[in-house]
Amino acid sequence: MKAIRVHEHGDYDVLRVENLPIPEPGPGQVRIKVAWGALNHLDTWVRRGVPGHRFPLPMTPGCDFSGVVDAVGAGVVTCKPGARVAVAPGHSCGVCRRCGEGKQNLCHKYGIYGETEDGGNAEFAVVDAHNVMPVPDAFPLDLAAAFPLAYLTAWHMLVKRCAVQPGDKVLIHAAGSGVSAAATQIARLHGARVFVTAGSDDKVSRGVANGAEAGVNYRENDWVPAVKEWAGRGGLDIIVDHVGVDTLPKGLWLLARGGRVVTCGVTSGAEMKLNMAPVFFKTLSVLGSTMGGLGEQKQVADLVFSGSLTPIVDSRYPLEQVADAHRRMNEREVFGKILLQVDPELK
Ligand SMILES: [Zn+2]
Repeated sequence: MKAIRVHEHGDYDVLRVENLPIPEPGPGQVRIKVAWGALNHLDTWVRRGVPGHRFPLPMTPGCDFSGVVDAVGAGVVTCKPGARVAVAPGHSCGVCRRCGEGKQNLCHKYGIYGETEDGGNAEFAVVDAHNVMPVPDAFPLDLAAAFPLAYLTAWHMLVKRCAVQPGDKVLIHAAGSGVSAAATQIARLHGARVFVTAGSDDKVSRGVANGAEAGVNYRENDWVPAVKEWAGRGGLDIIVDHVGVDTLPKGLWLLARGGRVVTCGVTSGAEMKLNMAPVFFKTLSVLGSTMGGLGEQKQVADLVFSGSLTPIVDSRYPLEQVADAHRRMNEREVFGKILLQVDPELK
């Protein structure tokens, strides 16, 4: 089978197209004939490497993917060959206390397909049977690949970590990123009000079309006074931040009493100086978040399949052009998910 392999970290050319044997599903696993994949920043980290972190190489990247079940391993009774499915990218031991509590992302054996073991940038992929989510017949497999990681991340940040409430004023940075576009929709679904930042007027407009009340182009205007004016005297209830040093320290000062800032990434830099005075004085919460529980993943899937949440597609590339897709991730005008088509026969 055709697969993308990363043997060493580096630039786009480390994404090699190779021929590998088709993997066999073990007990409790299923094999998926992959239809579509979607890129996440995690894929670019697997490609480039992250200082201080070791990825097991070689690796087939691809945490988000959809397809059709092609074979099942021993003991699998929950799905059959031919089923159209999306894949929950996070997998865990299934038996520890955290897993029992539905907090799979806190399991000490937690891993992500495409990061800790082979993912879906290949014609076939093997996953745990309880990681597959049946896709309704009327729902297209391209959109089924576009939601799992981004919507789970955004859901866990807003719903579990920040307990978003109707009427909450929510600031979401980098409106065009997959997680931010998902977060905008999830905040609106909970009756919250959203303000976005983005790097162009066009992206601000698209953020508003996606459900934000207003936004600011941070390349043309200082975003801090714009947010203050929108939020009014009370300030913000929630900030969704995956930008890091460029935004998080300033954001603390914009929060209302009891406000929460939640981070799932630090694209502008991880090390920063935080003034803790507003944190205690205004009873703020500074929260971290990575992925979420399997129950949350399946809840999000139901909302996507029923049309309450709708992934936004930026662009589509054939699997062989994965390097161009990674290049696109770094372009400023990206809004929403970059998809990889693996099998044009599967719709
Ligand atoms: Zn566990």
